[in-house]
Formats: sequence, C-alpha cells, structure tokens
Amino acid sequence: SRAGVGVYDPGLDARAQQQMQLVEDLHRLLAPGSPSAEELQVYFQPQVSLGTNTVIGAEALVRWHHPRLGVVEPLRFIDLVEQNGLMSRLTARVVHEAVAQCLRWQRAGHDLRVSVNLSAGCLVQPDLLEVLDDVLAGELPPQRMVLEMTETSLMLDPEVSMRTMRAIADRGFAISIDDYGTGYSSLSYLNDLPACELKIDRSFVRRLLDDERTRDIVIGTIELAHRLGMRIVAEGVEDQDTLQALHEIGCDEAQGYLHSRPLPLEQFAAWLERRTTGLSTFPAGPAARP
Ligand code: C2E
Ligand code: MG
Ligand code: MG
Ligand code: MG
Repeated sequence: SRAGVGVYDPGLDARAQQQMQLVEDLHRLLAPGSPSAEELQVYFQPQVSLGTNTVIGAEALVRWHHPRLGVVEPLRFIDLVEQNGLMSRLTARVVHEAVAQCLRWQRAGHDLRVSVNLSAGCLVQPDLLEVLDDVLAGELPPQRMVLEMTETSLMLDPEVSMRTMRAIADRGFAISIDDYGTGYSSLSYLNDLPACELKIDRSFVRRLLDDERTRDIVIGTIELAHRLGMRIVAEGVEDQDTLQALHEIGCDEAQGYLHSRPLPLEQFAAWLERRTTGLSTFPAGPAARP
C-alpha cells in the first residue's frame, strides 16, 4: 500500500531498499499533473524498409532520467509500474508523446508510423480504450499508430485480452506482435489475432548468420507471416551482413543499432532530417535481392 512506501527497514538489503525508493519515485512521477514529468522521456528508434532503405516508422521506448540514479532502463522499472497500478498512466503519457511526435514528423514531411508498447495489464483494463479514443479525436489517422504486445502478455487473461485487441483493431489502429518466438502461444493464436505486423525477437536475429536452424525458423516465420497477410520486422539488427541476409530471406523491415539506437526526441528529429537530406552517411541498404 501507499502508506508503507519509503519507510526504510534496516533489515532490508540495499537492492530491496532501492526498489522501494523507485516505487515511491514512480508514484510521485506518475501522479496526475506531476511537475516532475520531464524525468520520464520517450525515445524513438527508427524502423527501416529493407526494400527501399527508407525510414517508415519509429518505436517509442520510455526512459527514466532519475535525478540520482541517472538513466534507468525500462527493464528495471516497467514491472514496478505494472505491479503498482501505474501502467495506465505511463501508457497514456507514452501514447500522448508518440502522437505528438508523429504529427511533428508528418509536418516536416516524413510520413512515419509510430509504435507504442502495451503491457499485459493494459490489455485487461478499460483505461486503454479511453486513451485510444482520445487519439481518435485528434489529428493522427489511427492506421499510423501501431500497438505492440507480446504473446505472453496476451496470456494473462486470453479472453479479455483478445476482446481488447479486437476493440483496438476495430478502431483502425494497427496491432503488432512483439518479441515473436519467445512466448509459448500456439499457432492457432496467430490465426485469431487481428495483427498486421510480427516482430521477430532479437534472439533469433542475433543467431541468424551462425546457426542454420535459427535461419530456417526465421525463414519459416517470414513465410507464415506473409501468408497470413502480416509484415515482418526484425528486431535488434546490429550489422550489415545480418541486414543483407534478412533482405534475402524476404524480411520486410529492420530495427536496430545498425540504423540507430533509440534517440531522445530532438535527436531523433535531427537524425531523420540528416538521413533524408543525405547530409550524413548511413548504412547502405541491402543489395538487390539475387
Ligand atoms: P521491446 O519492445 O522489444 O523493445 C526493443 C528493445 O530492444 C529496446 O530496449 C531497444 O532499445 C532494444 N534494441 C533495439 N535495437 C537493438 C539492437 O540492435 N541491439 C540490442 N542489444 N538492443 C536493441 P529498451 O528500450 O531497453 O526496452 C526494453 C523493453 O521494455 C521493451 O522491449 C518493452 O518491452 C519495454 N518497454 C519500453 N518502453 C515501454 C513503454 O513505454 N511501455 C511498456 N509497457 N513497455 C515498454
Ligand atoms: Mg516493442
Ligand atoms: Mg521487442
Ligand atoms: Mg523485447
């Protein structure tokens, strides 16, 4: 409960104390109208088409600039946000920023999609649809917003999650299956999901060149996705050879450090300008498919 937060018990180890401090900070940060909102920032990482070597989207990834701890990675605090009932508020903030930036890129002449991650808890709470209805009331066409969820996050309550997914798709938003290949979902799931995008997890992309079985799994996944009418995005592409191999086996898009790390919004906007005006060097696109 809120009341106990921040009361230090000398019996707790340092790590547990730090977790408690983070929870207290998160409550402060995500309180409605919190003045310390700048501590939470949304970074963007580009997604590049392998066919045209153009940027076609960006994923919003949250970063916490903690006053004492520096940058806290999402993996260190996303679960805390969820466990403390604060995820709706975090998601609302990220969606809001993602929409604002996507409109800004559009005004600068870049017609990009923007992707936002949804947690398991988001899919079983009504707040999410309210946030999305606010988006619908604004300027951004819903097809330009991609909502990413993992197979595992759908397992919390499959029936309710599926209903939420349908409600999202009915509103015209795009749905993406994130970290594909790491969950335990059955193939029948893929058939039921109103998803238009599948993101192959980094763990497969990393082993693509070294492991024949991984390569076969990725090839099979690409074929399956295409047959189901979905596009395929490879996550965690770090080198040109992997990019080339992905192109050769028919992958549609790549996202990874090869193109750019996730960037703060001003840096991302500048990166986009440099890339499209050709004032800087960028990794070459894959060579034409043999
Ligand atoms: P994700 O959605 O699978 O995001 C991709 C992660 O891979 C990001 O980590 C990104 O920085 C990292 N990445 C991208 N390219 C490369 C690469 O070439 N090499 C390597 N080694 N890593 C790469 P990040 O930003 O630390 O986020 C981790 C996870 O936290 C995300 O995984 C997502 O599940 C979650 N997350 C991030 N932002 C949000 C958010 O706003 N809401 C929710 N619910 N979850 C979020
Ligand atoms: Mg994601
Ligand atoms: Mg992912
Ligand atoms: Mg991931």
